[in-house]
Amino acid sequence: MKKISIVIPMYYEEQVAEECYKRVTGVIKEIKEYDYEIIFINDGSKDKTLEILENISKEDRKVKIISFSRNFGHQAAVTAGLKYVTGDTVVIMDADLQDPPELIPDMLKKWEEGYEVIYGKRKTRDGESAFKLFTAKAFYTTLNKLSDVEIPKDTGDFRLVDRKVVDVINALPEHNKFLRGLFSWVGFKQYAYEYERKERFAGKTKYPLKKMLKLAQDGILSFSTKPLKIVGGLGILSVIISIAILLYSILSFAFSWNNLTPGWTSLMCTITFLGGVILISLWMIGEYIARIYDETKQRPQYIIDKTINI
Ligand code: UDP
Ligand code: MG
Repeated sequence: MKKISIVIPMYYEEQVAEECYKRVTGVIKEIKEYDYEIIFINDGSKDKTLEILENISKEDRKVKIISFSRNFGHQAAVTAGLKYVTGDTVVIMDADLQDPPELIPDMLKKWEEGYEVIYGKRKTRDGESAFKLFTAKAFYTTLNKLSDVEIPKDTGDFRLVDRKVVDVINALPEHNKFLRGLFSWVGFKQYAYEYERKERFAGKTKYPLKKMLKLAQDGILSFSTKPLKIVGGLGILSVIISIAILLYSILSFAFSWNNLTPGWTSLMCTITFLGGVILISLWMIGEYIARIYDETKQRPQYIIDKTINI
């Protein structure tokens, strides 16, 4: 019998954990031809999330839990889940039921048709602030401009993927995985499954601006080296401008065009402009070096405190 694995990360989700389990189980039980497992990852929540999950797992052996020693972030949680799946096909979804589990049977049909990555593409997004929509749009546009891989817009981590693809992702040695980018990068037969993204079932978003910025940065830095090249462009531009200023200063000195504060203006311009360019360049290079540093440390992306039913 074929098996479906469902991976659900949770961070302070005590308000939705129970409902999430019920809805997902309700749907997945109906798919008679398949066996299933649900892997919940507790990403260091300090509320009752783990307690609720543990209680569920005592009654239902199909529920497996991976609990982190602290908060390592959404991407790390999903990455951990993927390492432990045993199914032939894997569904990744959020705990808050914004991605309706009722769509799984339909996505599964696409998989049976031979697609290997069926990713959820949001047609509409209920209950999300104008700010979130705007920043998300800006992010995907920038990312696609910069990156060599086409990363689909309006796509989160909600997807159904073939075991084969999961194995490829698991085998990638890089830390700091930007999963939605990687799932696009690996190729295979992809299908954009359009759906309406619902409002959060309960609780608040666990993606404050700071985490969104980190995700955006991870996405851009791991899928593009263009920022480094842009820095080169800025450098060339600044050299051209400085040459013009230099010529102007020499000429004005030779022909005594102005005898007021000679050279001061151009000097200031050059210094400030170049200073800016140099600092930006250093920052860019620094970001990449920081990532290289992170990778060479070979520290794990997450630490597991305990697992249940695994
Ligand atoms: N999440 C997580 N670790 C974090 C932040 C979020 O595991 O550090 C989980 C969260 O519990 C949820 C999913 O990632 O299941 C998506 O988070 P959320 O719904 O808050 O993000 P949004 O839908 O607002 O972008
Ligand atoms: Mg959500």
